Amino acid sequence: MFSRSQKNGIEYLHSELLSHCDFLVHAFGTRIGGVSRDDYKSLNMSFLEGDEEFRVLQNWDKLASAFEIPMENFLVLNQVHGDNIFVIKPHGDYFSSREALNYDAIVTNRTNLAICIKTADCVPVFLVDHVKKIIGAVHAGWRGSSLEISAKVARFMQNSYGSRPADLLAAIGPSIGRCCYEIDDATADSFRRQKHAENFLSPGARSGRWMLDLVEVNRRQVLDCGIPEANIETAGLCTVCHQDIFFSHRGSGGVTGRQINFMMIKGDTFCKALLVDGVSERFH
Ligand SMILES: [Zn+2]
Repeated sequence: MFSRSQKNGIEYLHSELLSHCDFLVHAFGTRIGGVSRDDYKSLNMSFLEGDEEFRVLQNWDKLASAFEIPMENFLVLNQVHGDNIFVIKPHGDYFSSREALNYDAIVTNRTNLAICIKTADCVPVFLVDHVKKIIGAVHAGWRGSSLEISAKVARFMQNSYGSRPADLLAAIGPSIGRCCYEIDDATADSFRRQKHAENFLSPGARSGRWMLDLVEVNRRQVLDCGIPEANIETAGLCTVCHQDIFFSHRGSGGVTGRQINFMMIKGDTFCKALLVDGVSERFH
C-alpha cells in the first residue's frame, strides 16, 4: 500500500514495501509544497518545461532540505523515452562530461546518491534488491513500456548483480490510469505483441482507439521476471484524475510541471554529481 506523507510542506507518497527497507530513503513526488506558479503550481522539479529557473531551484532546495539530502546528491536523467540503463558503480566518477544523460533507467548500489525519475503521467517504477542493496529506477512512458524497459532493468539486476527474483521488490508510482489513457491503433500495435496484452489493452469508446493500462504493463513485466506478486506494490492513483495532487501532461493539455520520484541508499560515503558548473545543466 502507498501512503501520503508530508515533510516541511512537501507532500509525497511512500510505498509500504520499500519503507520496510531501513537502508533506503524514497519518495514518489506530488505537485504540492513548492513555489512555482500557474501551470507549474507548485512543486515543479523540471527546468525544461518553461517554468522560471529560480523557482525550480527553490523547489529543489526545499526538497533537499526536507529530506536532508544535499542538492548535489540528486541525479536526474535526461529522459528520452528509450530503454537504456545508466549503471553507476559504487565508487569513482560516474559523470564527467557535459553531455546530457540520455537514459530512462538507473541502476546502482552506490550510497548517498538519490536517483530520480521525473514524471507527469509516465510510470515511475522502483526496483530494490533488499538483500544485496541494489536499486533501480525506471521511467516508463508508452514507448519505454513497449520496449519492456522494466523487464530489462529487472533482468539486468539479476544478470549483472546476481539479484534473486524473490529478493526483488517493485513499487510502481502514480501515473496515468487506464481510466484516462486512450491511445490510437498504431500505439496499441506496439503492445499487442506483448504477453498478457488482454490484461492491459481494451477497446476504447471510439473506433480505432484503445485504453491502455501502463501500470499493468509494467507490473506484468516484472512478474514475468520472477518477482513474486506479493513483492509488487502499485500506487493506484491516476495523475489525470488527480491533478490537484499531480502534474499531468495529458490532463493539462501539455503545459505543466514534473514531479520528482527518488530513491537513495543511505550511507556514509561521500558522493556527488561531478564536474558540471551550472545547476540547470545537471538537473535536466
Ligand atoms: Zn484517470
